[in-house]
Amino acid sequence: MVVVGAGQAGLSSAYHLRRAGFEPDRDFVVLDHSPAPGGAWQFRWPSLTYGKVHGMHALPGMELRDADPARASSEVIGEYFDRYERTFGLRVRRPVDVRAVREGSGGRLLVETSEGDWSTRALINATGTWDRPFWPRYPGQETFRGRQLHTSRYPGPEAFAGQRVIVVGGGASGTQHLLEIAPYAAATTWVTRRPPVFREGPFDEEAGRAAVALVEERVRQGLPPRSVVSVTGLPLNDAIRQGLEDGVLDRRPMFDRITPDGVEWADGRRVAADVILWATGFRPSVEHLAPLRLREPGGGIRVEGTRAVADPRIHLVGYGPSASTIGANRAGRAAVRDIRRLLAEEPVAA
Ligand SMILES: Cc1cc2nc3c(=O)[nH]c(=O)nc-3n(C[C@H](O)[C@H](O)[C@H](O)COP(=O)(O)OP(=O)(O)OC[C@H]3O[C@@H](n4cnc5c(N)ncnc54)[C@H](O)[C@@H]3O)c2cc1C
Repeated sequence: MVVVGAGQAGLSSAYHLRRAGFEPDRDFVVLDHSPAPGGAWQFRWPSLTYGKVHGMHALPGMELRDADPARASSEVIGEYFDRYERTFGLRVRRPVDVRAVREGSGGRLLVETSEGDWSTRALINATGTWDRPFWPRYPGQETFRGRQLHTSRYPGPEAFAGQRVIVVGGGASGTQHLLEIAPYAAATTWVTRRPPVFREGPFDEEAGRAAVALVEERVRQGLPPRSVVSVTGLPLNDAIRQGLEDGVLDRRPMFDRITPDGVEWADGRRVAADVILWATGFRPSVEHLAPLRLREPGGGIRVEGTRAVADPRIHLVGYGPSASTIGANRAGRAAVRDIRRLLAEEPVAA
Protein backbone atom coordinates (compact mmCIF):
# COMPACT_ATOMS: atom_id res chain seq x y z
CA MET A 1 0.00 0.00 0.00
CA VAL A 2 1.18 3.53 -0.68
CA VAL A 3 0.40 6.67 1.31
CA VAL A 4 1.29 9.85 -0.55
CA GLY A 5 1.95 12.81 1.75
CA ALA A 6 3.07 12.99 5.37
CA GLY A 7 1.04 15.93 6.66
CA GLN A 8 -1.75 15.52 9.20
CA ALA A 9 -3.79 13.40 6.79
CA GLY A 10 -0.98 11.06 5.71
CA LEU A 11 0.39 10.54 9.22
CA SER A 12 -3.05 9.87 10.62
CA SER A 13 -3.56 7.27 7.87
CA ALA A 14 -0.16 5.68 8.56
CA TYR A 15 -0.93 5.53 12.28
CA HIS A 16 -4.20 3.71 11.63
CA LEU A 17 -2.51 1.35 9.18
CA ARG A 18 -0.06 0.38 11.92
CA ARG A 19 -2.83 -0.07 14.43
CA ALA A 20 -4.58 -2.36 11.97
CA GLY A 21 -1.47 -4.56 11.86
CA PHE A 22 0.18 -3.31 8.68
CA GLU A 23 3.96 -2.92 8.92
CA PRO A 24 5.82 0.08 7.45
CA ASP A 25 8.16 -0.93 4.60
CA ARG A 26 6.71 -4.45 4.47
CA ASP A 27 3.02 -3.64 3.94
CA PHE A 28 2.99 0.09 3.24
CA VAL A 29 5.20 3.06 2.47
CA VAL A 30 4.68 6.75 3.16
CA LEU A 31 6.17 9.03 0.49
CA ASP A 32 6.61 12.78 0.84
CA HIS A 33 8.37 15.26 -1.40
CA SER A 34 9.08 17.91 1.22
CA PRO A 35 12.49 18.03 2.85
CA ALA A 36 11.43 17.71 6.51
CA PRO A 37 8.60 16.55 8.79
CA GLY A 38 5.65 18.92 9.29
CA GLY A 39 3.60 18.68 6.10
CA ALA A 40 2.68 22.15 4.82
CA TRP A 41 3.24 23.64 8.28
CA GLN A 42 7.00 23.64 7.65
CA PHE A 43 6.47 26.31 4.95
CA ARG A 44 4.19 28.66 6.88
CA TRP A 45 5.43 32.16 7.61
CA PRO A 46 7.39 32.87 10.80
CA SER A 47 4.82 35.33 12.20
CA LEU A 48 2.19 32.56 12.20
CA THR A 49 3.04 31.59 15.74
CA TYR A 50 1.60 28.54 17.42
CA GLY A 51 -0.57 30.88 19.54
CA LYS A 52 -2.22 32.27 16.37
CA VAL A 53 -3.15 28.84 15.05
CA HIS A 54 -6.67 28.10 16.14
CA GLY A 55 -8.10 24.66 16.36
CA MET A 56 -5.00 22.59 15.59
CA HIS A 57 -5.94 19.07 16.63
CA ALA A 58 -3.23 16.68 17.78
CA LEU A 59 -2.50 13.64 15.66
CA PRO A 60 -4.12 10.41 16.91
CA GLY A 61 -2.37 8.70 19.78
CA MET A 62 0.00 11.49 20.87
CA GLU A 63 -0.85 14.87 22.35
CA LEU A 64 1.03 18.06 21.55
CA ARG A 65 1.66 19.40 25.04
CA ASP A 66 3.24 22.53 26.51
CA ALA A 67 4.01 24.15 23.16
CA ASP A 68 5.21 27.74 23.49
CA PRO A 69 2.52 29.93 21.84
CA ALA A 70 5.16 32.53 20.91
CA ARG A 71 7.17 30.12 18.75
CA ALA A 72 6.59 29.78 15.00
CA SER A 73 3.98 27.10 14.24
CA SER A 74 6.31 25.76 11.52
CA GLU A 75 8.86 24.86 14.22
CA VAL A 76 6.43 23.63 16.87
CA ILE A 77 4.47 21.42 14.49
CA GLY A 78 7.53 20.33 12.52
CA GLU A 79 9.14 19.05 15.72
CA TYR A 80 5.92 17.43 16.87
CA PHE A 81 5.44 15.59 13.56
CA ASP A 82 9.08 14.48 13.68
CA ARG A 83 8.57 13.05 17.19
CA TYR A 84 5.36 11.42 16.06
CA GLU A 85 6.95 9.70 13.07
CA ARG A 86 9.73 8.33 15.25
CA THR A 87 7.45 7.27 18.13
CA PHE A 88 5.27 5.19 15.83
CA GLY A 89 8.10 4.08 13.52
CA LEU A 90 6.31 5.37 10.42
CA ARG A 91 9.53 5.57 8.33
CA VAL A 92 8.43 8.30 5.99
CA ARG A 93 10.54 8.33 2.83
CA ARG A 94 11.55 11.83 1.79
CA PRO A 95 12.11 13.57 -0.42
CA VAL A 96 10.18 11.36 -2.83
CA ASP A 97 8.00 13.13 -5.39
CA VAL A 98 5.04 11.16 -6.70
CA ARG A 99 4.74 12.16 -10.36
CA ALA A 100 1.98 9.94 -11.71
CA VAL A 101 -0.34 7.16 -10.63
CA ARG A 102 -1.63 4.98 -13.44
CA GLU A 103 -3.18 1.60 -14.10
CA GLY A 104 -0.58 -1.12 -13.53
CA SER A 105 -0.82 -4.80 -14.20
CA GLY A 106 -2.95 -7.43 -12.44
CA GLY A 107 -5.41 -4.90 -11.05
CA ARG A 108 -2.66 -2.95 -9.29
CA LEU A 109 -1.76 0.69 -9.49
CA LEU A 110 1.63 1.87 -10.71
CA VAL A 111 3.04 4.76 -8.68
CA GLU A 112 5.79 6.61 -10.54
CA THR A 113 8.10 8.65 -8.34
CA SER A 114 11.41 10.51 -8.37
CA GLU A 115 12.89 7.44 -6.63
CA GLY A 116 11.50 4.70 -8.84
CA ASP A 117 8.15 2.94 -9.19
CA TRP A 118 5.90 1.23 -6.67
CA SER A 119 3.13 -1.22 -7.49
CA THR A 120 0.22 -1.20 -5.08
CA ARG A 121 -3.31 -2.48 -4.56
CA ALA A 122 -4.48 0.66 -2.78
CA LEU A 123 -3.33 4.25 -2.47
CA ILE A 124 -4.12 6.85 0.16
CA ASN A 125 -3.68 10.27 -1.37
CA ALA A 126 -2.95 12.85 1.32
CA THR A 127 -1.08 15.50 -0.63
CA GLY A 128 -2.98 18.51 0.73
CA THR A 129 -3.32 21.78 -1.12
CA TRP A 130 -0.25 23.86 -0.23
CA ASP A 131 1.59 23.02 -3.44
CA ARG A 132 -1.24 24.40 -5.58
CA PRO A 133 -1.82 28.03 -4.68
CA PHE A 134 -4.81 29.47 -6.53
CA TRP A 135 -4.32 32.79 -8.34
CA PRO A 136 -7.39 34.20 -10.04
CA ARG A 137 -6.73 36.05 -13.29
CA TYR A 138 -7.77 39.65 -13.92
CA PRO A 139 -7.39 41.80 -17.02
CA GLY A 140 -4.16 43.78 -17.03
CA GLN A 141 -2.50 41.58 -14.41
CA GLU A 142 0.66 41.16 -16.46
CA THR A 143 1.06 44.96 -16.80
CA PHE A 144 1.36 45.59 -13.03
CA ARG A 145 4.74 47.16 -12.25
CA GLY A 146 4.69 46.31 -8.55
CA ARG A 147 5.07 42.95 -6.86
CA GLN A 148 2.46 40.19 -6.78
CA LEU A 149 2.65 37.31 -4.40
CA HIS A 150 0.43 34.61 -2.95
CA THR A 151 -0.13 33.63 0.69
CA SER A 152 2.06 30.59 0.03
CA ARG A 153 5.07 32.97 -0.24
CA TYR A 154 4.02 35.46 2.44
CA PRO A 155 7.24 36.50 4.16
CA GLY A 156 5.77 38.23 7.24
CA PRO A 157 4.71 41.88 7.69
CA GLU A 158 8.10 43.64 7.86
CA ALA A 159 8.66 43.02 4.17
CA PHE A 160 5.83 45.49 3.39
CA ALA A 161 7.19 48.45 5.37
CA GLY A 162 6.28 51.75 3.73
CA GLN A 163 4.42 50.09 0.84
CA ARG A 164 0.87 50.37 -0.44
CA VAL A 165 -0.56 46.87 -0.26
CA ILE A 166 -3.76 45.42 -1.69
CA VAL A 167 -4.84 42.17 -0.07
CA VAL A 168 -7.25 40.05 -2.09
CA GLY A 169 -9.31 37.37 -0.34
CA GLY A 170 -11.92 37.07 2.37
CA GLY A 171 -10.60 34.09 4.32
CA ALA A 172 -8.60 33.71 7.51
CA SER A 173 -5.28 34.24 5.71
CA GLY A 174 -6.40 37.51 4.11
CA THR A 175 -7.61 39.04 7.36
CA GLN A 176 -4.50 37.85 9.24
CA HIS A 177 -2.23 39.36 6.58
CA LEU A 178 -4.06 42.71 6.76
CA LEU A 179 -3.98 42.92 10.53
CA GLU A 180 -0.26 42.14 10.54
CA ILE A 181 0.76 44.35 7.62
CA ALA A 182 -1.29 47.48 8.44
CA PRO A 183 1.06 48.80 11.17
CA TYR A 184 4.03 48.60 8.76
CA ALA A 185 2.50 49.54 5.42
CA ALA A 186 1.92 53.04 4.02
CA ALA A 187 -1.63 51.95 3.13
CA THR A 188 -3.67 48.77 2.91
CA THR A 189 -6.78 47.96 0.89
CA TRP A 190 -8.91 44.86 1.31
CA VAL A 191 -10.89 43.46 -1.60
CA THR A 192 -13.02 40.35 -1.62
CA ARG A 193 -15.37 38.76 -4.10
CA ARG A 194 -18.25 38.38 -1.65
CA PRO A 195 -19.01 40.49 1.40
CA PRO A 196 -17.36 38.82 4.39
CA VAL A 197 -19.65 37.07 6.85
CA PHE A 198 -18.51 37.44 10.44
CA ARG A 199 -19.45 34.78 12.93
CA GLU A 200 -20.34 35.72 16.50
CA GLY A 201 -19.69 33.15 19.17
CA PRO A 202 -17.62 29.99 19.16
CA PHE A 203 -17.32 27.62 16.24
CA ASP A 204 -18.72 24.74 18.27
CA GLU A 205 -19.25 21.11 17.34
CA GLU A 206 -22.71 21.74 15.98
CA ALA A 207 -21.52 24.56 13.72
CA GLY A 208 -18.61 22.33 12.65
CA ARG A 209 -20.94 19.46 11.76
CA ALA A 210 -23.22 21.78 9.78
CA ALA A 211 -20.21 23.15 7.84
CA VAL A 212 -18.90 19.66 7.09
CA ALA A 213 -22.37 18.54 5.92
CA LEU A 214 -22.49 21.41 3.40
CA VAL A 215 -19.12 20.43 1.95
CA GLU A 216 -20.00 16.72 1.91
CA GLU A 217 -23.09 17.42 -0.11
CA ARG A 218 -21.11 19.15 -2.88
CA VAL A 219 -18.40 16.50 -2.94
CA ARG A 220 -20.97 13.72 -3.15
CA GLN A 221 -22.26 15.39 -6.30
CA GLY A 222 -18.77 15.55 -7.83
CA LEU A 223 -18.55 19.34 -7.38
CA PRO A 224 -15.42 21.01 -6.04
CA PRO A 225 -15.89 22.33 -2.49
CA ARG A 226 -16.24 26.10 -2.00
CA SER A 227 -13.82 28.08 0.15
CA VAL A 228 -13.50 27.20 3.84
CA VAL A 229 -14.72 30.62 4.93
CA SER A 230 -17.90 30.35 2.87
CA VAL A 231 -19.05 27.57 5.19
CA THR A 232 -17.42 28.60 8.48
CA GLY A 233 -17.59 32.42 8.40
CA LEU A 234 -14.88 34.61 9.92
CA PRO A 235 -14.62 34.45 13.70
CA LEU A 236 -15.38 37.85 15.23
CA ASN A 237 -12.49 37.80 17.70
CA ASP A 238 -10.83 40.80 19.41
CA ALA A 239 -8.26 41.30 16.65
CA ILE A 240 -10.94 41.33 13.95
CA ARG A 241 -13.16 43.67 15.97
CA GLN A 242 -10.23 46.05 16.33
CA GLY A 243 -9.50 45.80 12.60
CA LEU A 244 -13.11 46.66 11.81
CA GLU A 245 -13.02 49.62 14.17
CA ASP A 246 -9.70 50.93 12.80
CA GLY A 247 -10.88 50.58 9.21
CA VAL A 248 -8.17 48.04 8.35
CA LEU A 249 -10.93 45.57 7.56
CA ASP A 250 -12.97 48.02 5.52
CA ARG A 251 -13.73 45.71 2.62
CA ARG A 252 -14.21 46.75 -0.99
CA PRO A 253 -15.71 44.64 -3.74
CA MET A 254 -13.41 42.96 -6.23
CA PHE A 255 -11.75 45.36 -8.69
CA ASP A 256 -12.35 44.95 -12.40
CA ARG A 257 -8.86 45.35 -13.78
CA ILE A 258 -5.24 45.72 -12.83
CA THR A 259 -3.26 48.67 -14.17
CA PRO A 260 0.51 49.24 -14.17
CA ASP A 261 0.14 51.30 -10.97
CA GLY A 262 -2.64 49.60 -9.08
CA VAL A 263 -6.21 48.47 -9.55
CA GLU A 264 -9.35 49.97 -11.03
CA TRP A 265 -13.11 49.43 -10.68
CA ALA A 266 -15.60 49.71 -13.52
CA ASP A 267 -16.94 53.00 -12.13
CA GLY A 268 -13.50 54.58 -12.57
CA ARG A 269 -12.33 54.41 -8.95
CA ARG A 270 -8.64 53.55 -8.59
CA VAL A 271 -6.24 52.53 -5.85
CA ALA A 272 -2.51 52.83 -6.38
CA ALA A 273 -0.39 49.95 -5.08
CA ASP A 274 3.16 48.63 -4.78
CA VAL A 275 2.05 45.11 -3.88
CA ILE A 276 -0.90 42.84 -4.59
CA LEU A 277 -1.05 39.99 -2.10
CA TRP A 278 -3.32 37.19 -3.26
CA ALA A 279 -4.82 35.41 -0.24
CA THR A 280 -7.05 33.45 -2.57
CA GLY A 281 -6.62 29.95 -1.31
CA PHE A 282 -5.40 26.67 -2.66
CA ARG A 283 -6.62 23.76 -4.76
CA PRO A 284 -6.07 20.04 -4.13
CA SER A 285 -2.62 18.84 -5.26
CA VAL A 286 -3.89 15.88 -7.24
CA GLU A 287 -2.40 16.32 -10.73
CA HIS A 288 -0.45 13.08 -10.34
CA LEU A 289 -3.80 11.23 -10.30
CA ALA A 290 -4.77 12.62 -13.73
CA PRO A 291 -3.95 9.39 -15.65
CA LEU A 292 -6.73 7.65 -13.68
CA ARG A 293 -9.35 10.10 -14.98
CA LEU A 294 -11.20 10.44 -11.69
CA ARG A 295 -12.66 13.87 -12.32
CA GLU A 296 -16.37 14.37 -12.92
CA PRO A 297 -17.74 16.82 -15.49
CA GLY A 298 -18.40 19.21 -12.53
CA GLY A 299 -14.63 19.41 -12.01
CA GLY A 300 -14.43 17.54 -8.70
CA ILE A 301 -13.57 13.95 -7.81
CA ARG A 302 -16.68 12.23 -6.49
CA VAL A 303 -16.05 10.42 -3.21
CA GLU A 304 -18.06 8.23 -0.84
CA GLY A 305 -16.47 8.73 2.55
CA THR A 306 -12.83 8.86 1.44
CA ARG A 307 -13.12 6.40 -1.45
CA ALA A 308 -13.04 7.69 -5.02
CA VAL A 309 -16.27 6.51 -6.58
CA ALA A 310 -14.58 6.02 -9.96
CA ASP A 311 -11.79 3.84 -8.48
CA PRO A 312 -12.21 2.20 -5.06
CA ARG A 313 -8.46 1.62 -4.78
CA ILE A 314 -7.94 5.36 -4.33
CA HIS A 315 -8.70 7.15 -1.09
CA LEU A 316 -8.59 10.92 -0.71
CA VAL A 317 -7.82 12.06 2.80
CA GLY A 318 -7.63 15.71 3.85
CA TYR A 319 -9.84 17.35 1.20
CA GLY A 320 -13.29 18.91 1.22
CA PRO A 321 -15.04 17.80 4.40
CA SER A 322 -11.76 16.47 5.86
CA ALA A 323 -9.62 19.56 5.05
CA SER A 324 -8.89 20.38 8.68
CA THR A 325 -6.67 18.80 11.27
CA ILE A 326 -9.60 17.07 12.98
CA GLY A 327 -11.15 16.09 9.65
CA ALA A 328 -7.85 14.63 8.46
CA ASN A 329 -7.58 12.52 11.62
CA ARG A 330 -11.04 11.07 11.12
CA ALA A 331 -10.62 10.56 7.40
CA GLY A 332 -7.33 8.66 7.92
CA ARG A 333 -9.12 6.21 10.18
CA ALA A 334 -12.05 5.85 7.79
CA ALA A 335 -9.77 5.25 4.80
CA VAL A 336 -7.90 2.48 6.59
CA ARG A 337 -11.15 0.81 7.64
CA ASP A 338 -12.34 0.87 4.06
CA ILE A 339 -9.05 -0.37 2.60
CA ARG A 340 -8.99 -3.28 5.05
CA ARG A 341 -12.35 -4.32 3.66
CA LEU A 342 -11.06 -3.99 0.11
CA LEU A 343 -7.99 -6.10 0.83
CA ALA A 344 -9.67 -8.58 3.18
CA GLU A 345 -9.46 -11.50 0.78
CA GLU A 346 -5.85 -11.15 -0.35
CA PRO A 347 -2.40 -10.77 1.18
CA VAL A 348 -1.03 -7.23 1.16
CA ALA A 349 2.32 -6.13 -0.18
CA ALA A 350 3.85 -2.70 -0.56
C1 LIG B 1 -2.26 29.30 6.57
C2 LIG B 1 -3.05 28.10 6.98
C3 LIG B 1 -3.42 27.93 8.31
C4 LIG B 1 -4.18 26.83 8.70
N1 LIG B 1 -4.55 26.71 10.01
C5 LIG B 1 -5.30 25.65 10.40
C6 LIG B 1 -5.72 25.48 11.76
O1 LIG B 1 -5.46 26.33 12.58
N2 LIG B 1 -6.45 24.37 12.09
C7 LIG B 1 -6.78 23.42 11.16
O2 LIG B 1 -7.43 22.42 11.51
N3 LIG B 1 -6.40 23.54 9.89
C8 LIG B 1 -5.68 24.62 9.47
N4 LIG B 1 -5.32 24.76 8.16
C9 LIG B 1 -5.68 23.74 7.22
C10 LIG B 1 -4.55 22.73 7.47
O3 LIG B 1 -3.44 23.03 6.70
C11 LIG B 1 -5.00 21.34 7.25
O4 LIG B 1 -6.05 21.08 8.10
C12 LIG B 1 -3.96 20.28 7.49
O5 LIG B 1 -2.81 20.71 8.15
C13 LIG B 1 -3.59 19.80 6.15
O6 LIG B 1 -2.98 18.56 6.28
P1 LIG B 1 -2.77 17.64 5.05
O7 LIG B 1 -2.06 16.44 5.55
O8 LIG B 1 -4.03 17.44 4.31
O9 LIG B 1 -1.84 18.48 4.03
P2 LIG B 1 -0.34 19.01 4.13
O10 LIG B 1 0.06 19.41 5.49
O11 LIG B 1 -0.22 19.98 3.01
O12 LIG B 1 0.53 17.71 3.75
C14 LIG B 1 0.60 17.22 2.46
C15 LIG B 1 1.95 16.58 2.26
O13 LIG B 1 1.96 15.96 0.99
C16 LIG B 1 3.22 16.16 0.38
N5 LIG B 1 3.02 16.09 -1.07
C17 LIG B 1 2.21 16.87 -1.85
N6 LIG B 1 2.25 16.47 -3.14
C18 LIG B 1 3.11 15.40 -3.17
C19 LIG B 1 3.59 14.55 -4.23
N7 LIG B 1 3.15 14.69 -5.49
N8 LIG B 1 4.48 13.59 -3.91
C20 LIG B 1 4.90 13.44 -2.63
N9 LIG B 1 4.48 14.21 -1.60
C21 LIG B 1 3.60 15.16 -1.87
C22 LIG B 1 3.67 17.53 0.87
O14 LIG B 1 5.08 17.60 0.85
C23 LIG B 1 3.12 17.59 2.28
O15 LIG B 1 4.05 17.19 3.25
C24 LIG B 1 -4.57 25.86 7.75
C25 LIG B 1 -4.20 26.02 6.40
C26 LIG B 1 -3.47 27.14 6.01
C27 LIG B 1 -3.10 27.32 4.55
